[in-house]
Order: sequence, then C-alpha cells, then structure tokens
Amino acid sequence: MAEFTMELNDEQKEVRDWIHGFAADVIRPAAAEWDEREETPWPVIQEAAKIGIYSLDFYAQQYFDPTGLGIPMAMEELFWGDAGIALSIVGTGLAAVGVLANGTEEQIGTWIPQMYGDANDVKVAAFCSSEPDAGSDVASMRTRAVYDEAKDEWVLDGTKTWATNGGIANVHVVVAVVDSELGSKGHASFIVPPGTPGLSQGQKFKKHGIRASHTAEVVLENVRVPGSCLLGGKEKLDERLARARERAKAGNGERTKNAAMATFEASRPAVGAMAVGTARAAYEVALDYARTREQFGRPIIDNQGVAFQLADMRTSIDAARLLVWRASWMAVSGKQFTSAEGSMSKLFASETAKKVTGQAIQILGGNGYTREYPVERMHRDAAIYTIFEGTSEIQRLVIARTLSGMPIR
Ligand SMILES: Cc1cc2nc3c(=O)[nH]c(=O)nc-3n(C[C@H](O)[C@H](O)[C@H](O)COP(=O)(O)OP(=O)(O)OC[C@H]3O[C@@H](n4cnc5c(N)ncnc54)[C@H](O)[C@@H]3O)c2cc1C
Repeated sequence: MAEFTMELNDEQKEVRDWIHGFAADVIRPAAAEWDEREETPWPVIQEAAKIGIYSLDFYAQQYFDPTGLGIPMAMEELFWGDAGIALSIVGTGLAAVGVLANGTEEQIGTWIPQMYGDANDVKVAAFCSSEPDAGSDVASMRTRAVYDEAKDEWVLDGTKTWATNGGIANVHVVVAVVDSELGSKGHASFIVPPGTPGLSQGQKFKKHGIRASHTAEVVLENVRVPGSCLLGGKEKLDERLARARERAKAGNGERTKNAAMATFEASRPAVGAMAVGTARAAYEVALDYARTREQFGRPIIDNQGVAFQLADMRTSIDAARLLVWRASWMAVSGKQFTSAEGSMSKLFASETAKKVTGQAIQILGGNGYTREYPVERMHRDAAIYTIFEGTSEIQRLVIARTLSGMPIR
C-alpha cells in the first residue's frame, strides 16, 4: 500500500513543473482566443501531442502513480492553464477510460491509438452517455443496441446529447440499452469506428463557459457496427446480463450497484482537481491585482475586506485539494469509500471553484467584469464543475445515502 505523504516526490515535482510550463507558456496565452472562437483548439492539442501530454502514455503514467496523486496533479495544472482548452486535451481520456475499463486487450490496442492519432495528425474521441431525457437519471436512457445475429453486427439507434467532442471525434464510445428490463444494468458500451454511416453530429451547443471545448448532440440512425465493437465482447455481456436478471429476480441489485459506485468514487476526484486548477488560477490573478491596484492611496489588499476574502479563497482551495488528494489516495490504496469521499471531493472542489472565481471578479472590480482580464472567463468556466460528471445535487444525494444507508430521494 502506498505511504501517504503531503509532499510530492522529486519525480512528481518534475512532472508537475513540466505540465505547468506547458499550461503557462502554451495554454494560458491561447485561452482568450479559443474562448472567443468557440472552437476546438487543434493547434494547441497538436502542441500537447508533440511533447507527449496528449497521449495515452501520459495518462497511463499518471494513473499508475502509486501515490494516487499523478492524475489530480496533472489535471490541476492543465486546468490552471485554461479549462476549455484543457478539456479539449483531456476529453479524449474520458472515452479512452471507457475502453480501458470495459474493453478486451485487442479492443484497447485497436481503438485507443485511433482516438489520439499522432502528433502530425491528431484525433479526438467522444464518450456518449447522456441523452435529452437521461442526464442525472442515467437509467432512463433510450438509445437501443440490437444484435443482428446473422451478420454479427449491432444496430444502434438514438440521440445522445452533451457529448464532449461529439461528431468531431474519430472514435465515439456510445452507451446503449441492450436489455430495457434491467435499468442501468442492461446498458453496454460500443465503439463506433471512424466514418461509420448513420452517425452524425446534431446541434453544436453555444455554451456559457469552457467554450474551447466542443459539445454537441450525436445522432445515431441505423448505425451498424461489427460484433467486435461491443466492449468486453458478447460472451461477457451475456454472462453479466444473466447475473443481473437472476439478481433482479431475487430482488437483490446491490452488488453491481456498489461496483458502479466504487468506479464513480474513484473517478470523481479527477474532476475535483480540474476545479481546483481553475479556482487557483483565479485566486492568483486576484492576489496579484489586490497587491498592485491602489485606491485611497494604498493597495486594495491593505483593506481587511479584501485581504480576508483572499484568505478565505486560499483556505477553501487548499481544503478542496486535500479532499481531492485524500480520495485519489484512497482509490489507489483500495480503500472503501465508506463516506463517499470521492463525491465529497468533487462537490466541495466544484462549489469552491464557482465561489472563488466569483470572488476574484469582485476583487478586480470593473476590470474583473471584462474580457480584458481572465477571471470573467474562469468564472464562466467554473460553472461546469457543479454540473457535469454528476451535479452537486447528485453528489449530495450519493453522500447522504452513503452516510445514512437510507434511500434518500
Ligand atoms: C459542457 C458539458 C459537457 C458534457 N460532456 C459530457 C460527455 O462528454 N458525455 C456525456 O455522456 N455527458 C456529458 N455531459 C452531460 C452531463 O453529465 C449532464 O449534463 C449532467 O449529468 C446533468 O444532466 P442534465 O443536464 O440532464 O440535468 P438534469 O439531470 O435534468 O438535472 C437538472 C437539475 O435537477 C437536479 N436534479 C436532478 N435529479 C435530482 C435529484 N434526484 N435530486 C436533486 N436534484 C436533482 C440536478 O442536480 C440539476 O440541478 C456534459 C454536459 C455539459 C454541460
């Protein structure tokens, strides 16, 4: 089991400084432009690919850091640079994790390289689960996957929404219903290979924040994919469905529910770390501004009203990071999330980012409210953390249910 320490080791510090350098020199200077353009920042993704930050190897190395701090550290630094661009860089990772978690070795080897492309021809991937009528309530998903045994093909039909990189991805990972009687246990994930007929981009959303990240509907009309595109394979799916049916008959769905919960608890701190990055970025701008901006003949930080806000901002950011690190360490150490510590970290960090970026605007006064300064963008960006990967209300629901053991609604 990994020893817990508050101090990053030399190797981690080196990696952190390397990512920070990229965030400061390449991401941050490009942030305002891509926010205005509301387009995927392909040249920045390409730069990240050239130095190895946009690659599966990079994520694998951080993921396998035995202290658990590799991923949160990387996320914090990238999102410190800019949330929209950073999401364009890490968005492919969401789809890749879907394949890593459920795919066979052959599927991992075939599809993940196609998700990233290479530095001369970068590609992105999309993970498509949410639907217009199935956001927080994943079990009401309607997209169907029907097996055509004669051709050994799956036929997918439905509409996905809110897909990061949806429609522009080389590879789409699509979650669909294979057995509607089993709720979320009757879902399976499919690869939709590049250029598959029937998959098209629906509406591209014009968003409040993270505007450099492409978010769109994905329409699936009679999309036929080979049997080999079912993640994990048919045999494994049939076994899983048979077990779920038996448990449903016996009135016991707990075991699979707990397995899914453990996965979420382990992945949510990564989103918390993104929020810490955005919050820290806004706090640093505000601290710098408060030291240099003078009113009434002295720097505004000379006023307790301003200095105390900065003290609170920094305290919340550090507390959020500690919750994120604790949950990440628990995940890598195989600890049970008996108090939904992963959800706690995502809840607290995302609410902190929203609050701190708002406080930063206040400290910058009129300048904070303009696009001449970055805190306005950071505040818009921060609003996403309390919404995606489970809203704050859903995190509270999970925490309350875990603490109480009651089916709180
Ligand atoms: C920019 C962006 C990128 C995204 N990227 C992806 C992606 O790549 N892939 C993907 O599959 N999805 C993605 N999502 C979808 C995201 O995960 C969903 O938006 C989120 O899960 C919430 O679903 P919803 O929007 O349908 O809101 P709803 O579920 O309709 O919720 C609306 C409100 O009701 C509240 N609420 C709902 N149920 C309860 C309850 N039981 N108790 C208390 N309050 C409740 C919610 O907290 C929220 O405040 C993305 C979303 C955005 C905005």
